[in-house]
Amino acid sequence: MPNAATHDVITVATGALLAPATYLLLAAGDPARASTGVAMLVGAHLISGILFSPDLDIDSAIDDRWGVLFWIWRPYMWLIPHRRFWSHSLLFAPLLRLIYFYSMAMLIYIGGAWLLGRTGVVVPDLHLQASAWIFDLMRHNPDMVRLFLLGFITGSAAHTIADWLVTGGKRYLNLFGLRLKGNYREHDRQPSRRNRSAGAWR
Ligand SMILES: [Zn+2]
Repeated sequence: MPNAATHDVITVATGALLAPATYLLLAAGDPARASTGVAMLVGAHLISGILFSPDLDIDSAIDDRWGVLFWIWRPYMWLIPHRRFWSHSLLFAPLLRLIYFYSMAMLIYIGGAWLLGRTGVVVPDLHLQASAWIFDLMRHNPDMVRLFLLGFITGSAAHTIADWLVTGGKRYLNLFGLRLKGNYREHDRQPSRRNRSAGAWR
């Protein structure tokens, strides 16, 4: 499979193609909001491909990008089998990653607030405010939310389709008796920068 750097190039290139196409489509309906719509869709496409990549299902370069928060994706990595429907399908997988991230962020905040509460520190109910803000956005700006979700789906799809093309291309070459020397099946499994096997996070 293409490695993380190749997937990044694919994400940026498809994002660059999506921008003018989206602008033309949106400008036909509401020119005033076309630029915001493009920023929303292309921004979500890039975030999805680079930070929320389907390869979060393995210990890869992707979770390293989350810095100290990389452990948020550990349960996801343990639960989700690599390159199956759960992480590499076109529609379901990116939406699952969004829901997973939202749930984890809520859990961490509620857990942290509870722990601080035990020591007498009261924190604001930011988890309720964030949820209310999201639902408010869905009610008052459904078009922008739709564009964000669409971009989030296309960002993930660009990765999945590239994976499929490499797998399919290899099979096609095999039909003609040609064999690629490398084992590309594990190509996207990259050793982490951190030596986690010796760490406590594993
Ligand atoms: Zn992949």
